[in-house]
Amino acid sequence: MQKYFYFFRIQILQQIITNYNILLYLKQKIFFCQIRVVFLCIPNSQIKPKKVSQLKITLLFLWHFLKQVKRIIIMNIHEYQGKEILASYGVRVQRGIVANNPVEAVAAAKQLTAETGTSWYVVKAQIHAGGRGKGGGVKLAKNLDQVTEISEQIIGMQLITPQTPPEGKTVHKVLIAEDVYYPGESETSEFYVSVLLNRATGRNMIMYSTEGGMDIEEVAEHTPHLIFTEEIDPAVGLQGFQARRVAFNLGLSGNAFKEMVKFIDALYNAYIGSDASMFEINPVLKTSDNKILAVDAKVNIDDNALYRQPKYAEMRDIKEENPIEVEAKEVGLNYVDLDGTVGCMVNGAGLAMATMDLIKYAGFEPANFLDVGGTADAKRVETAFRIILKDPNVKAILINIFGGIVRCDRVAQGVVDAYKNMGDEIKVPIIVRLQGTNAEIAKELIDNSGMPILSAVQFQEAADQVKAALS
Ligand code: GDP
Ligand code: MN
Repeated sequence: MQKYFYFFRIQILQQIITNYNILLYLKQKIFFCQIRVVFLCIPNSQIKPKKVSQLKITLLFLWHFLKQVKRIIIMNIHEYQGKEILASYGVRVQRGIVANNPVEAVAAAKQLTAETGTSWYVVKAQIHAGGRGKGGGVKLAKNLDQVTEISEQIIGMQLITPQTPPEGKTVHKVLIAEDVYYPGESETSEFYVSVLLNRATGRNMIMYSTEGGMDIEEVAEHTPHLIFTEEIDPAVGLQGFQARRVAFNLGLSGNAFKEMVKFIDALYNAYIGSDASMFEINPVLKTSDNKILAVDAKVNIDDNALYRQPKYAEMRDIKEENPIEVEAKEVGLNYVDLDGTVGCMVNGAGLAMATMDLIKYAGFEPANFLDVGGTADAKRVETAFRIILKDPNVKAILINIFGGIVRCDRVAQGVVDAYKNMGDEIKVPIIVRLQGTNAEIAKELIDNSGMPILSAVQFQEAADQVKAALS
């Protein structure tokens, strides 16, 4: 059992590494990988998951992948910006105007009434996180006074949703949108539609469900048969019959059916045209007069494509990002903030993940993911130290470097020099494990430096030292 476990774990790791999707793995979602692994690695067991449920688990897995990875690898934008992109590709959206304060909010509401005739408005907090409705970040205003009142409440609030950090996120802007849930000839209905990349098949896919407006993870967990997918062949693109199948599976007919076909087509064009890695529209609304439109928009643009999407690059909102991560990015370090207490400094993403496993097996939680890259010289090591130490939860730092291209003695010298430079600032134990070219010389260098740095050559040794240092 254990053997199978590791085998599949490694396979998944490889998949993760090659897809540069390391980050999901990092963010507690190890859990999901493991569920999948456990499923896969029980040969001849009683549990024989049907193909369908395996697919759903894969989807769920993929889903969490995307959700977690996007923060760094993928640029996140606000709902109002996502809707601008959608509208520019001809996707019908709930009309809205962004406002920075209550005065602007009222002006926006007046303009909306002039343009659309709406007399009710929705005030929507603009933060890089979903679930705003549940947290009190989306509210209906039935007149201009209520627009003022609700905007005053929401702008500046610390909005806590299931997708924000526990302390929530400060709201700086609101979107004043037309009310699209007006009564009419038929009932309104809400759907879920997203376009994303299925890394397992290397194809884009449309994932959709009749259960709109709800948390899609919940739907995947409790009613997976209500989630449908449509894979798109990259050679021919989205085909008409596929868009019609989406509309059909969503139970639409008549004008709403035609509108949905157009909606899906335009949405897919927007996804491709903007080099996005995810478009999630939840809910897509069928109005009481059978129009189909996007009420919400969660859009992630692929970082690697920003050089050719300057318009979208400008949409980045640094206020929404983790400040330590922003700083690390500026100095070229690949850093992800996590919740644990053991800071890590590692070269190479794969080794970084293995190191985090090591920390977990020793009974602790990693405080971060940090890949210093190939050139671990004194300057870089020092910068990395400073970044790691900005996190007040760090109680120990584990440096785990494999000297392949870079020589271990150089790294060791770098660590010693950095320590000398910052001596007083470092108040936590440092454990250094160097392996590879000149590892022995490196260990000697550290042991003879007179600095309180613990050195190790073997992986296990390093783990034991972390344990000793923290208990
Ligand atoms: P999220 O909670 O962050 O996903 O934000 P959404 O944009 O999805 O909005 C949350 C919920 O607010 C939606 O599921 C709708 O039920 C509701 N909502 C959004 N727009 C309107 C509107 O125009 N009128 C009414 N009555 N409700 C709306
Ligand atoms: Mn939503």
